[in-house]
Amino acid sequence: MSVVTDPADWVEEAARKHPRRLFLNSPAGRPYTYAALREESGRFASALMQRGVVPGDRVAVQVEKSAEAVLLYVACLRMGAVFVPINVANTASEVDYFLCDSRPRLAVIRPADRTLLAPVAARAGIRHLETLGSEGEGSWLELVSNSDLPCEPSLRTAASSLAAIVYTSGTTGRSKGAMLTRGNLASNAAGLVEAWRFTAHDVLLHALPLFHIHGLFAAINTVLASASSLLLLPKFDAAIALRHLPAATVFMGVPTHYTRLLQQVGLNREATARMRLFISGSAPLLAETHREFLQRTGHMILERYGMTETLINTSNPYDGVRVPGSVGRALPGVAIRIAHPETGPIEPAADVMGLLEVTGPNVFAGYWGDADKTRGEFTADGWFKTGDLGSIDSDGYVHIVGRAKDLVISGGYNVYPKEVESELDALPGILESAVFGVPHPDFGEGVTAAVVGKAGAALSEADIINAVQTRLARYKIPKRILIVDELPRNTMGKVQKSALRATYASLYRAP
Ligand code: AMP
Repeated sequence: MSVVTDPADWVEEAARKHPRRLFLNSPAGRPYTYAALREESGRFASALMQRGVVPGDRVAVQVEKSAEAVLLYVACLRMGAVFVPINVANTASEVDYFLCDSRPRLAVIRPADRTLLAPVAARAGIRHLETLGSEGEGSWLELVSNSDLPCEPSLRTAASSLAAIVYTSGTTGRSKGAMLTRGNLASNAAGLVEAWRFTAHDVLLHALPLFHIHGLFAAINTVLASASSLLLLPKFDAAIALRHLPAATVFMGVPTHYTRLLQQVGLNREATARMRLFISGSAPLLAETHREFLQRTGHMILERYGMTETLINTSNPYDGVRVPGSVGRALPGVAIRIAHPETGPIEPAADVMGLLEVTGPNVFAGYWGDADKTRGEFTADGWFKTGDLGSIDSDGYVHIVGRAKDLVISGGYNVYPKEVESELDALPGILESAVFGVPHPDFGEGVTAAVVGKAGAALSEADIINAVQTRLARYKIPKRILIVDELPRNTMGKVQKSALRATYASLYRAP
C-alpha cells in the first residue's frame, strides 16, 4: 500500500481502487462499500457546509455508536472540519464545559438530549444543533437528504492543520482538549497498517466506543488507510463479540474485553480460527490474561501503548516476541526515552525506572487554548512528558508500571503499585487488585490495596498480608487490604485510582 499523506486521501484512494470493497458492515444497519462511503460522506460534508462549517471549524459530536456516526467523522476529515468527540457518559454540565471551551460551529447530539442541551449549546454560541440517533433518526439525516448533490471535498490542507480535539479523561483537574493534527492521524495510521500488517482483506471487529482515540483513530483510521473493513458492533458484549469472530480477522480491545471473553466457554481455537490478530491497549493487560488467552485460543495477544496526546507510541511486534507485561517497542519514526523528574534523560536499563517521554510525528500540537499547560507538558528539548512511569529493557521493549501520579510515597520510600499488584494477583484466590496511596498520619501515604476475589474464593485481609510478607519489603506491604466486589473502571477499562483514593481518603484517620 502506498504511503498516504493526508486522511482525506484514504477515502479517495480506497474508493478509486476498490469501489466495491466493503468499508463497513453492522448487524443491524446497512452496509457501505468504499464507493458508498465516498458518496455518503460527501453528502454529509455537503450538509456540514450548508450549515456554514468551513475548514478549521469545530464540529462537536455526542451520539451513540452507529455507521452514520462513523460517516460523520469521515465527512469532517474530508472537508477539514475539526472533529470533537464527546463521551456519551458525559453529563450536561461536562458537555457545557466542552462546548464553551471548543466553541464548535455545529454540534450533533442524541435526539433525546435536545431539550436538555439546547440552552447549553446556545450559551456556547452554537447556532446549529442537530440530532442523530443510533437508528439514524433525528434532524441530521434529514438535513443530509435535503442537501444538494454530494460535494467533492477537494481539500488540500497542511499536515499541521487540526483534525480533531479530543478531551483527555482528566483524572486531575479539568480535562483538556488535545489538539491532533492531520499529520498526527496520517502518520500513526500508516505506522499501524505496517506494524500490524493490515491489508484490504482484513475485517476488524469493532466493539470500542467512538469517542476515544482507541476506537476512533487506532481502529477506524487503520482500516481506512488499508482499505479494509469494519464490522461494527454497537458496544462490547462478550457473547455477541464471540459470535462475530468467525466473520473477522482482527480484534482490538481493552484488557477487560479479554477477561470477559475468557469467561465465555465457547472461546477456543475453533471460534478464533479465522482470526489473524488480537490487539490490546488503553490499560495494562495482565500477564495472566495473556497466557490464558494463548492457552485457550492459540493466539498471542499483541499489546500496544498509546494515549490521547500521542496516539499509539509502542507496539509488540507482529513477527517476533510478544512479551507479556510489556507494551513493546517504539513504532517506526517514534522515539521513547526515560527521564528522572529532576535530572532529565537517563540511560535505559531493565531495572531503571523513569518517566516516559515521547517524540515523533504522532505527538499532538498542544492543549486547545492552554499554552501554559502545553509548555509544562513538554521538555526543553521538545519531548512530550507522558506522565507514565516505566523502564526500557536492552531489547528496546517498554515496561509500564503506571501513572507517575499513582506512585505511592510511604515513609519516604517509593512504592510502585504494579510491583505490589503483581504479588497480590499471583495469590491463589485473587482475581485482580489495585494498589494506591491515601494519607497516613505516620507514613505520609499508606500503601493500600483493593482486591477482587475469584468466584467462590474466601479471602481474608490477614491471610493476604501474611502471604506477601516474604515476597515484598516491609514498606511495600499494604497497611490495609480492602476486599471489594469490583474495581472502579472508566469506559476504556482503566482502573480509576483517583476514585479509590477519594473513597478511602479517611482510612487511616483517627476516628
Ligand atoms: P488515554 O489518554 O485515555 O488513552 O489514556 C492514556 C493512558 O493509558 C496512558 O498514559 C497509560 O497510562 C495508559 N495506557 C494505555 N495503554 C496502556 C497499556 N498497554 N499498558 C498500560 N497502560 C496503558
